[in-house]
Amino acid sequence: MDEFSVSGTYIWYYCICKREVRLLAHGIEADQQDENMQMGNAVHETAYRRDSKEIEFGHSKFDVITKENGKLLVGEIKKSSRFMESARMQLLFYLKELEEKGIHAEGALLFPEEKKRETVVLDDNSRKSLEAMVEDIKNIVNKEYPSLPFWNKYCKKCAYAEFCWA
Ligand code: SF4
Repeated sequence: MDEFSVSGTYIWYYCICKREVRLLAHGIEADQQDENMQMGNAVHETAYRRDSKEIEFGHSKFDVITKENGKLLVGEIKKSSRFMESARMQLLFYLKELEEKGIHAEGALLFPEEKKRETVVLDDNSRKSLEAMVEDIKNIVNKEYPSLPFWNKYCKKCAYAEFCWA
Protein backbone atom coordinates (compact mmCIF):
# COMPACT_ATOMS: atom_id res chain seq x y z
CA MET A 1 0.00 0.00 0.00
CA ASP A 2 2.36 2.69 -1.29
CA GLU A 3 -0.09 5.58 -0.97
CA PHE A 4 -1.21 4.77 2.57
CA SER A 5 -1.12 7.68 5.01
CA VAL A 6 -1.71 7.33 8.71
CA SER A 7 -4.64 9.46 9.85
CA GLY A 8 -6.12 10.15 13.25
CA THR A 9 -8.70 7.44 12.62
CA TYR A 10 -5.95 4.82 12.40
CA ILE A 11 -4.42 6.08 15.63
CA TRP A 12 -7.82 5.64 17.25
CA TYR A 13 -8.21 2.05 16.05
CA TYR A 14 -4.60 1.19 16.86
CA CYS A 15 -5.27 1.92 20.52
CA ILE A 16 -8.26 -0.44 20.46
CA CYS A 17 -7.24 -3.34 18.22
CA LYS A 18 -4.33 -3.67 15.80
CA ARG A 19 -6.25 -6.17 13.69
CA GLU A 20 -8.94 -3.54 13.18
CA VAL A 21 -6.31 -1.19 11.73
CA ARG A 22 -5.45 -3.77 9.10
CA LEU A 23 -9.10 -4.51 8.21
CA LEU A 24 -9.92 -0.84 7.85
CA ALA A 25 -6.81 -0.03 5.80
CA HIS A 26 -7.58 -2.82 3.36
CA GLY A 27 -11.14 -1.66 2.75
CA ILE A 28 -12.96 -4.29 4.77
CA GLU A 29 -15.90 -2.24 6.00
CA ALA A 30 -17.39 -2.71 9.42
CA ASP A 31 -21.07 -3.57 9.65
CA GLN A 32 -22.82 -0.20 9.02
CA GLN A 33 -26.02 -1.56 10.57
CA ASP A 34 -24.23 -2.26 13.82
CA GLU A 35 -26.04 -0.52 16.68
CA ASN A 36 -22.87 1.05 18.09
CA MET A 37 -21.87 2.54 14.76
CA GLN A 38 -25.32 4.05 14.15
CA MET A 39 -25.59 5.55 17.62
CA GLY A 40 -22.12 7.06 17.36
CA ASN A 41 -23.02 8.72 14.05
CA ALA A 42 -26.23 10.16 15.49
CA VAL A 43 -24.46 11.71 18.47
CA HIS A 44 -21.79 13.15 16.22
CA GLU A 45 -24.36 14.74 13.91
CA THR A 46 -26.48 16.43 16.57
CA ALA A 47 -24.17 17.46 19.41
CA TYR A 48 -22.29 20.76 19.47
CA ARG A 49 -23.35 21.57 15.93
CA ARG A 50 -24.71 25.04 16.67
CA ASP A 51 -21.38 26.60 17.61
CA SER A 52 -18.86 24.42 15.82
CA LYS A 53 -17.15 24.26 12.46
CA GLU A 54 -15.68 21.09 10.99
CA ILE A 55 -12.45 21.49 9.05
CA GLU A 56 -9.95 19.29 7.25
CA PHE A 57 -6.22 19.72 7.72
CA GLY A 58 -3.57 17.39 6.30
CA HIS A 59 -4.64 13.87 7.25
CA SER A 60 -6.91 15.19 9.96
CA LYS A 61 -10.52 16.22 10.18
CA PHE A 62 -11.42 18.16 13.30
CA ASP A 63 -14.88 18.18 14.77
CA VAL A 64 -14.51 21.61 16.34
CA ILE A 65 -11.98 24.38 16.00
CA THR A 66 -12.37 27.58 17.92
CA LYS A 67 -10.54 30.15 20.05
CA GLU A 68 -10.75 30.03 23.81
CA ASN A 69 -8.97 32.48 26.13
CA GLY A 70 -6.83 33.63 23.21
CA LYS A 71 -5.66 30.07 22.40
CA LEU A 72 -6.56 27.91 19.42
CA LEU A 73 -8.62 24.96 20.60
CA VAL A 74 -9.25 21.75 18.67
CA GLY A 75 -12.14 19.64 19.90
CA GLU A 76 -13.13 16.06 19.20
CA ILE A 77 -16.67 14.88 19.89
CA LYS A 78 -17.03 11.33 21.17
CA LYS A 79 -19.94 9.13 21.99
CA SER A 80 -18.56 8.00 25.31
CA SER A 81 -15.45 8.23 27.46
CA ARG A 82 -15.16 4.45 27.32
CA PHE A 83 -12.50 4.87 24.62
CA MET A 84 -10.69 7.68 26.43
CA GLU A 85 -7.13 6.57 25.58
CA SER A 86 -7.92 6.19 21.87
CA ALA A 87 -9.64 9.55 21.80
CA ARG A 88 -6.73 11.19 23.61
CA MET A 89 -4.10 9.77 21.22
CA GLN A 90 -6.18 10.69 18.17
CA LEU A 91 -6.47 14.27 19.32
CA LEU A 92 -2.75 14.40 20.16
CA PHE A 93 -2.07 13.25 16.60
CA TYR A 94 -4.10 16.20 15.29
CA LEU A 95 -2.25 18.60 17.57
CA LYS A 96 1.07 17.22 16.31
CA GLU A 97 0.02 17.63 12.68
CA LEU A 98 -0.85 21.24 13.38
CA GLU A 99 2.40 21.81 15.27
CA GLU A 100 4.40 20.50 12.30
CA LYS A 101 2.80 23.28 10.26
CA GLY A 102 3.71 25.88 12.88
CA ILE A 103 0.26 26.06 14.47
CA HIS A 104 0.14 25.59 18.24
CA ALA A 105 -3.16 24.46 19.66
CA GLU A 106 -4.59 22.76 22.71
CA GLY A 107 -7.14 19.99 22.57
CA ALA A 108 -10.41 19.19 24.26
CA LEU A 109 -12.28 15.90 24.23
CA LEU A 110 -16.02 16.47 24.33
CA PHE A 111 -18.46 13.85 25.57
CA PRO A 112 -21.88 15.45 25.08
CA GLU A 113 -23.90 12.53 26.40
CA GLU A 114 -21.86 12.55 29.62
CA LYS A 115 -21.58 16.35 29.78
CA LYS A 116 -17.86 15.84 30.19
CA ARG A 117 -14.76 17.53 28.81
CA GLU A 118 -11.02 16.62 29.02
CA THR A 119 -8.14 18.91 28.15
CA VAL A 120 -5.35 17.40 25.99
CA VAL A 121 -1.87 18.92 25.69
CA LEU A 122 0.91 17.74 23.37
CA ASP A 123 4.25 17.09 25.14
CA ASP A 124 7.54 15.27 24.41
CA ASN A 125 6.29 11.91 25.66
CA SER A 126 3.18 12.01 23.54
CA ARG A 127 5.20 13.10 20.49
CA LYS A 128 7.46 10.04 20.90
CA SER A 129 4.50 7.69 21.46
CA LEU A 130 2.81 8.99 18.31
CA GLU A 131 5.95 8.52 16.22
CA ALA A 132 6.22 4.89 17.39
CA MET A 133 2.53 4.30 16.69
CA VAL A 134 2.74 5.70 13.17
CA GLU A 135 5.68 3.38 12.38
CA ASP A 136 3.88 0.35 13.81
CA ILE A 137 0.66 1.15 11.93
CA LYS A 138 2.62 1.26 8.65
CA ASN A 139 4.14 -2.14 9.46
CA ILE A 140 0.74 -3.64 10.30
CA VAL A 141 -0.84 -2.32 7.11
CA ASN A 142 1.99 -3.58 4.92
CA LYS A 143 2.06 -7.11 6.35
CA GLU A 144 0.85 -9.78 3.98
CA TYR A 145 -1.94 -11.01 6.28
CA PRO A 146 -3.86 -9.53 9.19
CA SER A 147 -3.13 -10.86 12.65
CA LEU A 148 -5.56 -13.46 13.95
CA PRO A 149 -8.44 -12.09 16.02
CA PHE A 150 -7.55 -11.78 19.66
CA TRP A 151 -10.47 -11.60 22.07
CA ASN A 152 -10.32 -8.35 23.99
CA LYS A 153 -12.69 -6.19 25.99
CA TYR A 154 -13.81 -4.28 22.87
CA CYS A 155 -14.75 -7.32 20.75
CA LYS A 156 -18.23 -7.69 22.17
CA LYS A 157 -19.36 -4.29 20.86
CA CYS A 158 -17.07 -4.08 17.82
CA ALA A 159 -18.72 -3.62 14.41
CA TYR A 160 -16.26 -6.26 13.06
CA ALA A 161 -17.31 -8.85 15.64
CA GLU A 162 -19.28 -10.95 13.19
CA PHE A 163 -16.43 -10.86 10.67
CA CYS A 164 -13.87 -11.92 13.28
CA TRP A 165 -15.84 -14.40 15.33
CA ALA A 166 -18.74 -15.84 13.27
S1 SF4 B 1 -13.93 -8.05 16.91
FE1 SF4 B 1 -12.20 -7.89 18.34
S2 SF4 B 1 -10.46 -8.77 17.22
FE2 SF4 B 1 -12.04 -8.29 15.72
S3 SF4 B 1 -11.53 -6.24 14.97
FE3 SF4 B 1 -13.02 -6.00 16.64
S4 SF4 B 1 -11.82 -5.68 18.49
FE4 SF4 B 1 -10.44 -6.54 16.92
